[in-house]
Amino acid sequence: MIYTCYEMALDCRADRAEGWSHFIREYVPVIQKLVAHYFAERADDRGWMESLVVALRQPESSLFQTLEPAPERWFVAELRQQLLAAADGLDGGKSPEIEIDLEALGAALEPLTVVEKQTTWLETMRYAPEETGVLLRMEPRTVEKIREKAAERIRGSMDNWRRSVLTDNGRQLGRAAAAAHTKDCLSAKAFLDVLDGRMTWRGREELERHVTACWHCIDHFCRMAEVVEVLRGVTPLSEPEAERFRQVLGVAGQAKPAWKRWFGKASGAV
Ligand SMILES: [Zn+2]
Repeated sequence: MIYTCYEMALDCRADRAEGWSHFIREYVPVIQKLVAHYFAERADDRGWMESLVVALRQPESSLFQTLEPAPERWFVAELRQQLLAAADGLDGGKSPEIEIDLEALGAALEPLTVVEKQTTWLETMRYAPEETGVLLRMEPRTVEKIREKAAERIRGSMDNWRRSVLTDNGRQLGRAAAAAHTKDCLSAKAFLDVLDGRMTWRGREELERHVTACWHCIDHFCRMAEVVEVLRGVTPLSEPEAERFRQVLGVAGQAKPAWKRWFGKASGAV
């Protein structure tokens, strides 16, 4: 009797306590991991963290609508997007001192390969060379070399430049890339097939040609790689922590474990 992510989504959509309890136990740890990465300075701010989780508690949210074809990974990918949007909402989204938009970045990096663009894009997502090496299965030294090359091109295309320009503009660039969806864009499934080793870019020139020129797909691929890594080794929230978040979200106490419900039905007792 496994209670799946898909069932959780149905329960959250119907605003049932069981769904929210599962969300808290299994996915607050994912939120904590993402907060530690994107908002390290906020990682110990309990009030901010709670406000974030409250902002995500919306039964009508698209987060709980479509979960095919890979329910949990699709869900976490969407959770990540909504989490960052909620954080922007709380913090008011400051503009960086030196701005670069997606068009200018795309023009500067136009001759780079797909992998080089992904490597550079992960810098906007705040991944250091070592972490990027894990996400893209690449030597950190190779990551550094690619980033040097990309930085030179970007520097050459701007009046003002600083080393942190990609990280500083990460949120704006991420929003712009997410909005730049086209009818030819690849599905999450295609990217997961690549990440799971069921498909390679080789021999798929038409796909590669699209992705090379599409920052929506570069971003989407990097985010799916991130999801795979974030889910690795994440452990459920401890019971006292889960109870704290249930109180914050106004979710009734622990739902009956699935086996008890099943046993109750089978024996006629409740
Ligand atoms: Zn695309």
